[in-house]
Amino acid sequence: MSIEASVGKDLIEQLIDGTIDAENATRLLKMDRKDKDRFINYIAVLQERVSWEDQILMRLGDKVYIVINADKQRVAKCECGHEFCDYRKNWKLACKIRTRRTLEEMQQVYDPTPAVPEPGWQEIREFFCPNCASQLAVEVVAPGYPIVFEMLPDLDKFYREYLGRPLEDESSEWYQDQTHSVTQQWAAKAS
Ligand SMILES: [Zn+2]
Repeated sequence: MSIEASVGKDLIEQLIDGTIDAENATRLLKMDRKDKDRFINYIAVLQERVSWEDQILMRLGDKVYIVINADKQRVAKCECGHEFCDYRKNWKLACKIRTRRTLEEMQQVYDPTPAVPEPGWQEIREFFCPNCASQLAVEVVAPGYPIVFEMLPDLDKFYREYLGRPLEDESSEWYQDQTHSVTQQWAAKAS
C-alpha cells in the first residue's frame, strides 16, 4: 500500500478547525511525504469558507489572505472582505494599530507579571482590521523598530516550481518589497 495516500478534504477541514483526532494527526505526521495536491486542497477548503469570490493564492494568517482581486491585482485581504493593499507592501501598515508602552498597559494582556515585557525596552503592537476590528497580528519589539513584514512570498516560484501550476499573471515584478513606498508617502505628507 502506498503511504503517499492523498489526504481527504474532510481531514483538511479538521486540520484547519483544530479538531483532528490524535490517531489521524499521527498518521499524517508519519506519511513519507506530503501529497502534491494538499496545498491546493487546503486552498479549496479556505475558498469555500470565505464570502467573496477573489481567488486565494496563500493564507498569511487566521483571517488574512493574498488574493487576486477583481482588478487582477495581488492584494492582502481580510476575511471580512476588506482589502489592505498590494501584497508587496506590509499589510500591517494599513491596519489600526494599538501600542502598549507602559507596565500598566502591558499587564492587561500579560500574565504572570514576570512575563511582562520591560517598558522602555519593548512595546506591544496590536494590529486590527479597520473594517471588522479583528485583531490580526501582535508583535513585541523594541520601541522604534520598523513594523515587522512577516512574509513576502515568492508566489510565482512557489506555484511554478513547488506546485507545478504556474500562475497566469506571472511576472518578475511581483516578488519585490514595496513597503518603503508607503513610508515614503507618509514622510512626504509630514514634511
Ligand atoms: Zn476585517
